[in-house]
Amino acid sequence: MNELLKIKGIGNASIQKLKLNGIESIRDLINTFPAKYQSMNIDAFSQMEIGKEITLSMVVMSLPVVSYIRKRLTKMIFSAMVDNQLMKISIFNREFLKNSLTVNSEIVVTGKFSSSNQMVATNIIKKSHFQCGIIASYRLEDISSKVFSKWVEKAIIQYPSEIRETIPDRFLKKNEIVDISTFFRIVHHPMSLSDVDNASRRIKYEELLEFFLRLAVQKQNHMDGFVKRKHYQIDMVRHYIESLPFELTSDQKEATNEIFRDLKSDHQMNRLLQGDVGSGKTVCAMIASYAVYTAHEQVALMAPTEILALQHYHTFFDSLSPYGVKVAFLSSSVTGTERSTILEELANGNIDIVCGTHSLIQPEVVFKNLGFIIIDEQHRFGVNQRRELRKKGMIPDVLFMSATPIPRTLAITIFKDMDISSIRMMPKGRKQIQTNLLAYDELDYLFTEIQKELDLGHQAYIIVPLIEDSEGSKNISLQEFKAIIGEKLPSKYSVDFLHGKMNYLQKEKVLELFYKNETSVLVSTTVVEVGVNVTNATIMAIVNANQFGLSQLHQLRGRVGRGNVQAYCYLITDGLPEENSRLEILTQTTDGFAISEADLRYRGPGEIFGSEQTGIPKFKMANFITDQELIASVMEDAIQILHSSDPLAEALREKSAFLLETTHLD
Ligand code: ADP
Ligand code: MG
Repeated sequence: MNELLKIKGIGNASIQKLKLNGIESIRDLINTFPAKYQSMNIDAFSQMEIGKEITLSMVVMSLPVVSYIRKRLTKMIFSAMVDNQLMKISIFNREFLKNSLTVNSEIVVTGKFSSSNQMVATNIIKKSHFQCGIIASYRLEDISSKVFSKWVEKAIIQYPSEIRETIPDRFLKKNEIVDISTFFRIVHHPMSLSDVDNASRRIKYEELLEFFLRLAVQKQNHMDGFVKRKHYQIDMVRHYIESLPFELTSDQKEATNEIFRDLKSDHQMNRLLQGDVGSGKTVCAMIASYAVYTAHEQVALMAPTEILALQHYHTFFDSLSPYGVKVAFLSSSVTGTERSTILEELANGNIDIVCGTHSLIQPEVVFKNLGFIIIDEQHRFGVNQRRELRKKGMIPDVLFMSATPIPRTLAITIFKDMDISSIRMMPKGRKQIQTNLLAYDELDYLFTEIQKELDLGHQAYIIVPLIEDSEGSKNISLQEFKAIIGEKLPSKYSVDFLHGKMNYLQKEKVLELFYKNETSVLVSTTVVEVGVNVTNATIMAIVNANQFGLSQLHQLRGRVGRGNVQAYCYLITDGLPEENSRLEILTQTTDGFAISEADLRYRGPGEIFGSEQTGIPKFKMANFITDQELIASVMEDAIQILHSSDPLAEALREKSAFLLETTHLD
């Protein structure tokens, strides 16, 4: 016999309905939680505020009149008395209530006032049916929430053995989480909103713990990659650091220490170093590279574009060749004897450090003793390329650098088995980019400001996301902006245009002229985002700024402010208040971590990073941004559970090992 039949009130017909809802056992029954809670209380009329939801007790004064507005939309209007004041109440699609709303009947109405005596109601209940307190709604097919919650109540009493604690006591205490029997009582029958909060905190904790425990188990499995620890010459490394023209920031010191701990250990380094452009990541990578050189192993640095790879090559060459380090550059444009010499010297160990593009992972590139790989802007590389590169030579240590900083909890989720180092502070003495919002009718002001900079010999960027005007779009396109510039900027200033539809050679030409300061103003689509580094550019305007995510705007404006002079950024928007309050964050801070956090509040992580690619879990209740504190605590707990002999911890481990076998995280 189906065990559910033992619950009073459940008969064969109910069994069928429950089955339709996927509920086939007592366990299923009590683990079906409400989809929503509604707090039902009668408010005092004195609390009324126009536009705010309120629930009031009323007496019907006139018979309702129903009018048909259109198909499937009716409106019912009647008058009712609250505190001796007459109100006009309207409600949509409730004509079936008409007959029960007799004059003098007492009702409870929930809705919003549109003026002091008119209310648009969303719910009307007879006072005799009204129940104060929190109402749970389960959203089940064909079963009312009231009936369902009665069944659950009985099941909990009849089958106490179904309710067993799964979380070790000390974690409950540490995280202020209710025990399992309290949880089942309050999740189905909360008496107050704080009961609801406590119940949802436990649900969040459990789903986060399941996820992060799997992550921890997976990471432990990956840790099995052993590498030869690197015997670098610490005195030489210290001497190199001391000879740098500046002192490292404390964030850089910490990141460097973390990297060196990996180099020293016999586990493979798999670390992400994140920080804004200019925060000094490359310097940390360079120090580590030098250390690897002193351990007589080779280093490869891979960048997503040739421009970036070349920039790195020059930086490494300038800083390290005085110390006897041989640095080389390799990309598909290095050909002929130059190429074959480099390949030969990589194979015989003559070259110590090579910077390049993805051509470094081609089979013809062979290293003598590759010990360390640095991957810049790793999110632009596919997982496969990363894997290819890691397979080269021995098992090298790998350091990923990202200039798109994200909150730690999210970084750990996206980058799974990687360790994370973050550089949050900028080196001393950097001038912050001054950022302002401008409306379209303030373009005259913009062009005066641009001219001021140009007259100082500086250069300007104007970013216009659209190339051509499209039907019905109210956004200004690059083509349209050309005309505006012609009108507002004297022709003595040279202007050039760059966009994605141009071919490689055309783009190179435009960029070259801008690099040489032969062009003063570069009007461009977002193709300019990666790798363009013109320190003489001090002012940027971003047209249609509201089209962009905050992090993307932050990346874009990072093209200016590279030098030591004050830089400016103007965000041109059409001035809608809610848009502007989002963009305003950029006028207040240049901290990429704070900006990405704000971005994540506005748009979910899935929307920004794509949940498919990154495997960001879709939690039912937990939220990556608002629950960061709980997440940080869960991550600690997961590690402890891995090493605990508590029987509950063992059970949790077994469960996540099982889940890992059946579903993959990456
Ligand atoms: P990132 O790789 O994060 O973009 P870089 O390492 O390229 O940053 O550093 C940007 C610039 O700042 C470089 O010119 C570098 O020499 C300089 N720099 C790095 N660290 C410091 C520091 N602690 N103090 C002053 N300047 C620094
Ligand atoms: Mg860099």
